[in-house]
Amino acid sequence: MPTNLYGFRLFASSLLIAFLGTLSTAHAKRAPKDSGSSTTVVIDAGHGGYDRGGIPGQSVSEKEMTLDVAQRLKKTLAASGYRVVMTRDSDVFIPLGTRVAIANSYSNAIFVSIHFNSAKRSGAGGIETYFYSRESLPLASAVHYFVAGGAPSSNRNVRRRGYYVLRKTAIPAVLVECGFLTNPSEAALAQTASYRQKLAEEIAAGVRGRSSVASALTTTRVATSESIPLQPYIDQTKVAKSKGRRSKRSHKKSTRRKKSSSKPAGSEAKAGSKDREG
Ligand SMILES: [Zn+2]
Repeated sequence: MPTNLYGFRLFASSLLIAFLGTLSTAHAKRAPKDSGSSTTVVIDAGHGGYDRGGIPGQSVSEKEMTLDVAQRLKKTLAASGYRVVMTRDSDVFIPLGTRVAIANSYSNAIFVSIHFNSAKRSGAGGIETYFYSRESLPLASAVHYFVAGGAPSSNRNVRRRGYYVLRKTAIPAVLVECGFLTNPSEAALAQTASYRQKLAEEIAAGVRGRSSVASALTTTRVATSESIPLQPYIDQTKVAKSKGRRSKRSHKKSTRRKKSSSKPAGSEAKAGSKDREG
């Protein structure tokens, strides 16, 4: 990740904040009263701008896939009566801190971050969904239930990890990895509009069913935030760390968490995780 673009990022984020004002007003006006309840869904399309996502040399651009699914999800949820806010709605770079600030500016809200995975091994594949806080587990379980259930890919399960956008958001927050763009068959699917539409609809089903699905799952699988191990901490703030403000605290937390964390079953996604922004 280039570090000489900090100035540009600041500029981009101030543009975004200005833009955000108009965006949220527009959505507020449009939001129907009931059906989707008064819940606001903050949709976060991973990466953007000079940050393509994925791993070096990856042919399918993650940032384009995440944005397209996010925009489809926005339409689907808006049609169900949800108030929807996008952390980005075009091909721009948005710092993680700005994404979190957007999420945290809404109270009765949930945060859904959309990503695609990548690995050096082309055979690596599947769907995985991340959460961090206890109150995010029902949403993670429900989103995963639908996305993994509706995909021909393997199920890599719900996982707990302290990604920046999951740790710093004050509202229920999930990050869904909608398949591996480095896997030929999953990449082929991701490049079809109909599959991206399906992904959006499955994520929306998870959002709508986040209370009922979660309670149904806990009776059968007894998944709790304690029974899902915390995965090794990855410091994504290194991208925005030019100021060095957060590094000390992050490391401290990292050490503390190591005690309770354990290695995930399938670790081939780690190559992609390092580049992933959250
Ligand atoms: Zn990503």
